[in-house]
Amino acid sequence: TSGFDVEAIRREFPQLHREVNGRPLVWLDNGATTLKPRQVVEAIAEHYATGTSNVHRGAHTLAKQATQIYEEGRAEAAKLLGTPDPDEIVFVRGTTEAVNLVAQSWGRANLGLGDEILVSAAEHHSNLVPWQLIAKERRARVVPIPLLPDGQLDQDAYRDLLGFRTKLVALTHASNVLGTVPPVAEMTALAHRYGAKVLVDGAQAVSHFPVDVTALDADFYTFSGHKIFAPTGIGVLYGKRDLLEAMPPYQGGGNMIDSVSFDETTYAPVPHRLEAGTGHIAGVAGLRAALRYLSGLDRQAATAHEEQLTAYAMAALATVPGLQLIGNAPGKIGVLTFLLAGTDPIDLAGALDQQGIAVRAGHHCAQPALAAFGLQSAVRASLALYNTVQDVDDLVAALQGIQAATAAS
Ligand code: PMP
Repeated sequence: TSGFDVEAIRREFPQLHREVNGRPLVWLDNGATTLKPRQVVEAIAEHYATGTSNVHRGAHTLAKQATQIYEEGRAEAAKLLGTPDPDEIVFVRGTTEAVNLVAQSWGRANLGLGDEILVSAAEHHSNLVPWQLIAKERRARVVPIPLLPDGQLDQDAYRDLLGFRTKLVALTHASNVLGTVPPVAEMTALAHRYGAKVLVDGAQAVSHFPVDVTALDADFYTFSGHKIFAPTGIGVLYGKRDLLEAMPPYQGGGNMIDSVSFDETTYAPVPHRLEAGTGHIAGVAGLRAALRYLSGLDRQAATAHEEQLTAYAMAALATVPGLQLIGNAPGKIGVLTFLLAGTDPIDLAGALDQQGIAVRAGHHCAQPALAAFGLQSAVRASLALYNTVQDVDDLVAALQGIQAATAAS
């Protein structure tokens, strides 16, 4: 593709050049986590080697430098998500903590007896279980938005489920097991007609296509750094400013207060009031580097490359005898979940690993999504912008070999 040189990109990712089990690594486990470019590794090392300091405190040079990097990381996250206001970016550990923060803080203040939380049946457990926890406490109800056979969300059912009891809709922006990309903007507009808020889980979306929370009109949007070429342990909660400002603190401690006494404690403005304690400073340095790296790429070309590779992989996998693909919604991301007749998913992933091919097997933390297809477990190959036709060909050749050996035995 013009404007997109995948070989140049691959050179920036050291892990793509290692071997596993004596074979060149074929990394097809991007849904679990993405590899890190050199720039990210260097930013983390630099923070610890020569830039170590806490942020927002101490009047010395290194504290100021660390604070600047930290706040630039916030600004990069705001830019990635399309909000002009960096104060709408709250640093958290990852998507899981972001959803728990909203459920515990916004949920506790806004949910009551008989209220309904609509949760799509495609959600990762991290955008379902926190809602079950708070629903139980507030005596509210979690109601599933069902799936169609191709993995799309059932929009007719969604319209029927929406009502004046609906207080929140929890939606993935891209399913980690089906690859489905729901029509989030339309679904959000519908929810808003009933005064419901919408939380969008962008964990699998942000690395694959440009996102604009303003255009989506999402109330909350979350992602994990480690799935967008940044370190583990750092993630982002976006929230509309008025919502964040009205939310009670999630955790109490340092950094989040205005003044403290035994009589009365007042809190800092957002986002700091929702960021108690010392944050993951090296993680933000890595996130800043990852987002700068990404914004230096032609993102439309990267998305086009992934779309072409996804279509190629779907067609190539379909040629393997006995292979069944799960989820073929139009516009899906490069998440290829499948079963191979006569093989157990865990064993199949193990056999691929012997050939240096990393895929995931299991329930993918989305048991209801697999259950909708009558399954408990499947294999998942998931693509990123640095994957190639060669990676897909290696996977398909390995599957063909395993299939032939299985059929013969
Ligand atoms: N949502 C989706 C769609 C995911 O794929 C994942 C990670 N597999 C998560 C949420 C949870 O992310 P984390 O474990 O980084 O909090």
